[in-house]
Amino acid sequence: MHDLIIIGAGPAGLTAAIYAGRAKLDTLLIAGKTPGGQIYLTYQVENYPGFPDGVTGPELVDRMVSQVKRFGAKIIEEEATKVDFTSDPYKVYIKDEVFETRSVIIATGSRNRLLGLESESRLMGRGVFVCATCDAALYEELRVVAVGGGESALQEALDITKFASEVIIVHRGEAFSAQRYLIDEVEKNKKITTMMRHTVEEIIGDDFVTGVRVRNLETGDIHELQTDGVLIAIGWLPNTQLFRDQLKLTDKGYISADGVKTSKPGIFVAGDLNDTLYRQLATACGSGCKAALEAEWYLGHR
Ligand SMILES: Cc1cc2nc3c(=O)[nH]c(=O)nc-3n(C[C@H](O)[C@H](O)[C@H](O)COP(=O)(O)OP(=O)(O)OC[C@H]3O[C@@H](n4cnc5c(N)ncnc54)[C@H](O)[C@@H]3O)c2cc1C
Repeated sequence: MHDLIIIGAGPAGLTAAIYAGRAKLDTLLIAGKTPGGQIYLTYQVENYPGFPDGVTGPELVDRMVSQVKRFGAKIIEEEATKVDFTSDPYKVYIKDEVFETRSVIIATGSRNRLLGLESESRLMGRGVFVCATCDAALYEELRVVAVGGGESALQEALDITKFASEVIIVHRGEAFSAQRYLIDEVEKNKKITTMMRHTVEEIIGDDFVTGVRVRNLETGDIHELQTDGVLIAIGWLPNTQLFRDQLKLTDKGYISADGVKTSKPGIFVAGDLNDTLYRQLATACGSGCKAALEAEWYLGHR
């Protein structure tokens, strides 16, 4: 029987494990196949406090994992395959093996909806990016293609224009699906051009992005555009499949929660899994900290 099981070892889960271990909770971290989550994929992190010269994603993850180990949480590098939150103690499964616990932090993150191209995954963090707040500054005076036509695609395209010399928005629809003021901002921004009814068929580049191949959906014509970066902004999918029958979810598939507290006592959420707005390393760590403190207080009251 554990005091706490944390599912997911991205920055949120790792931070929660540091706090829980340090509070001497008997903590099991079910880390998935690759601890570190999205940040492990990041070539260079420039906006995390304490690293004035930046730090690579894998180095930051190694440091967080060492800190978790120092405070004693046990780590299993497997995925949780099932949960049962219907009775106390709660149960978390890895295949046939069952682990019992008094409390749970769910920190399974979210994933970007992606185009699904081989070149997209190969060049992720090497010109392909999914977070303008994180990476726009790397494109100072360069050209970026932004794929998508919703609220976040337009907002992120605008953010990129603070740095890039040119942003080309490629959108498969006939119109943007965003608030009018954002569309107006995009339309009057001289650095932005739009290609409606187009899709990206291929991202070109060996080690780093050098271009994209786009298809005109009206005519079928294919062109190549030279570009230094490709922002993929076509939506997010929270990793909540495992919890669908166990916890109340919102209509967008996020777990219903009040801050980090779910509707079930002793079950907390942290990180991008339940963040529809900020999705940053620092905010994920912050909510991992909050969830671990809540778990500690919950167990104390019990
Ligand atoms: C390419 C890229 C670059 C980025 N750059 C920056 C940056 O420079 N600065 C910044 O602030 N933010 C950046 N971000 C955003 C930042 O990485 C995320 O906000 C942060 O990682 C969210 O942390 P998280 O712990 O909530 O989730 P995640 O990082 O998504 O981690 C969740 C973890 O849970 C695991 N998991 C899922 N299901 C299970 C299961 N069933 N069992 C066990 N484990 C499971 C996943 O495999 C994953 O390891 C970047 C994101 C990407 C993709």
